[in-house]
Amino acid sequence: MEYYRVARSHLLIFVIMFLIGSASSADMNLETKCNIETYQDGFRLTSPYLVLYLSGSQDGSYISQISQRSGSENLLPSAPEHKYLWRLHLEGETGSPISISSEDLKLASNIEHRSHGGKCLQLIWDRVKNLAISVEASFCVSPNDPLIRMRLSVQNDSAFTLAQVDFPMLSGIGPLSDDPSQDYLIWPKGTGELIPNPYQNPIPHEGRELHPYPSSIQSMQVTGLYGTRGGLYIAAYDPDCWSKYLRFEPSLTGRSLDFYLENYPQNIGSPGNDYQMHYDAVIGTFSGDWWVAAQMYRDWALTQNWCRSLNLIDDPSLSPHVRDVVLWFVLQSKPTVMEKQALQMQEYFGVPSIAHLYDWHKSPVTHTDPDYFPAKKGFEEAVRNLKQAGIEVMPYINVRMWDTNTPSFIEEEAYAGALRTTGSTIPTRSYNAHTFVTMCSSVPLWQEKMASVCETLTKEYGVGGVYLDQLSGPSTTPLCFARGHPHPPGGGNYWARGYLEMVEIIKRRMPDKNCFFTSEYFAEPYIAHVDGFLVWSCFTEYAIPFAQAVFSGRTIFWGRFFGTFFGEQPQPHLDRTDEGFYSKFADMMCNGIQLGWIYAWIMEDDVAEKREFIRNMARLYETGLKDAYLSGQLIKAPDLVGLDRTVEVIWPMYKNENKQLFPVLTGAWQFEDSRIKLLAINVTTDNQRFEIDIARWPPTAPWSQMSVQVQSTNTNPKVLHPKSGKLTLELDPRQAIVITLTPEGH
Ligand SMILES: [Zn+2]
Repeated sequence: MEYYRVARSHLLIFVIMFLIGSASSADMNLETKCNIETYQDGFRLTSPYLVLYLSGSQDGSYISQISQRSGSENLLPSAPEHKYLWRLHLEGETGSPISISSEDLKLASNIEHRSHGGKCLQLIWDRVKNLAISVEASFCVSPNDPLIRMRLSVQNDSAFTLAQVDFPMLSGIGPLSDDPSQDYLIWPKGTGELIPNPYQNPIPHEGRELHPYPSSIQSMQVTGLYGTRGGLYIAAYDPDCWSKYLRFEPSLTGRSLDFYLENYPQNIGSPGNDYQMHYDAVIGTFSGDWWVAAQMYRDWALTQNWCRSLNLIDDPSLSPHVRDVVLWFVLQSKPTVMEKQALQMQEYFGVPSIAHLYDWHKSPVTHTDPDYFPAKKGFEEAVRNLKQAGIEVMPYINVRMWDTNTPSFIEEEAYAGALRTTGSTIPTRSYNAHTFVTMCSSVPLWQEKMASVCETLTKEYGVGGVYLDQLSGPSTTPLCFARGHPHPPGGGNYWARGYLEMVEIIKRRMPDKNCFFTSEYFAEPYIAHVDGFLVWSCFTEYAIPFAQAVFSGRTIFWGRFFGTFFGEQPQPHLDRTDEGFYSKFADMMCNGIQLGWIYAWIMEDDVAEKREFIRNMARLYETGLKDAYLSGQLIKAPDLVGLDRTVEVIWPMYKNENKQLFPVLTGAWQFEDSRIKLLAINVTTDNQRFEIDIARWPPTAPWSQMSVQVQSTNTNPKVLHPKSGKLTLELDPRQAIVITLTPEGH
């Protein structure tokens, strides 16, 4: 370890002092700048943070302008193709579905009232289209809130059933840069995606029938668009995780976007069902890039009941096995073979590990679920031997699907608990020539079934944890129209709640409180209930670590798939000869994803270099990064002066994901006490020399003097003494380094 002292620019201190001074005087003025007033043919709502115009009260209301208070840039600069504020989708017993929107309706009345220290505008439409339907929308601004908050309710006394409510709706969004290719759409798929030029790169929607929030297709309730002239932040602040869908569509001209938040009423199918939004839809503005939007969402998300309230070092509900793990193995073979492989890997890597086991039951994976027992011969003994060697075992189970050809399916009357779509049909899905149905998460039969499987695994076979596949996955179909289930048909928050209840029942049956549970992909409602998420294939062309920026220090993201899915079956061996391996592994580590899934092929003779690379990274994680993962916040890493994106790699998955990377990949975390850890990994076979301008990064650093501590996979790191607040680093091929920046006095 080596220590350096960096003198930061005094100019920076002066700038910070100036900003603090101007903010405090501005605050006093802002109190008076929260207002609602009639304006032309509509209303203008202003807060200290934004201004929003509602136009067309006589001939259809819509949001015509959203601007940052300080500037005049309209974030809806294009002519709107639709003048919608809301839209109702109605279905009758006969005839085609109809939709009614605010586009061609006259506002009946408007009311202004005060709420939570702010002001609200309530708009009312009565007897919509001469039907016994009335709609109320509210818009609230507050001097202490950077967002505008919106809700909508529908009183439906008609003969129609209300099937979907779109609100809020925006049209004419963007472009927000002179060159639209400089615009980016933040998309909550997986751990987050960033789509460049979204006017020309439309998002492939898969619709409410398959993948609404909460699922890994919409894992968070946030989106946004930004360019050089500003950013638009849109989210649903829903503490109870109701099913919903955030939808962007390109306009017909291909030069702007429309946005709808799709909301699903309860009791779809019953005439005269009402709708009440149980959460705020929010709109805000921001300057900067997606890191700023992630911080805005983090400010709200970390206070929700479904999120952990403590960091992962302090939270006693996180299993110590997951807190301590460094490497996650994935094994799929006979129990005696898996035991041998895991012991061999453990001996080489020498760090705490968890073995994720597939095919531990008699039939192969996804064949006769959930009739897993008895396990294969030797499984119990293998679990015992691995536990004695310090390796926790986590077998795979599936918490969504029941094979219709299993004896238990008939004996336990599983059909009654199956998810039904509109029309009361039970959708089926075929895997490996077996037919499966999706079980409704809220049904006690299914919750008890899964609890029973987990109880047998932990108590009779002694496993340390269980992998609950598809809890947070893409194929969760969270709208169930079955009658007789403990939820109204259609919309609701029962899907997430059902799984949360299931995990609570499972945990009550565990032999000890250290048993752990993880799932595949990521969905935010389950953060406080499971110990981590295998994020697996979340490394697509557009992937960004948005979820890590929001939830770092509050949940564990772990593991990537090192193989391909070309063809029907996974090909885990194909990545072993791919030079993309190093960059994919290093990128995982820099993005706050714990190290895994490591296949047994890593112990074969021809991959010794890759094996050593993983061991170096694992040791560096254990000694230098673990505390940052568990209690720090992932922040934007600094620019690397002297390097360009010259490394072109392919990370194969369902398709070849092309990546253009810097030769050195970086990640950075900030602790509550202001310390910062910076990780840098040279993914090339050349030496790499570069500078980091510490005086310009990170922007929130509150100190003028800091000490620098260095840990490295190489015993001789070259960190040159900084001059003028600049660090100069030189990394050997495939060398990784962790630099801790500590404010003076800490
Ligand atoms: Zn159901």
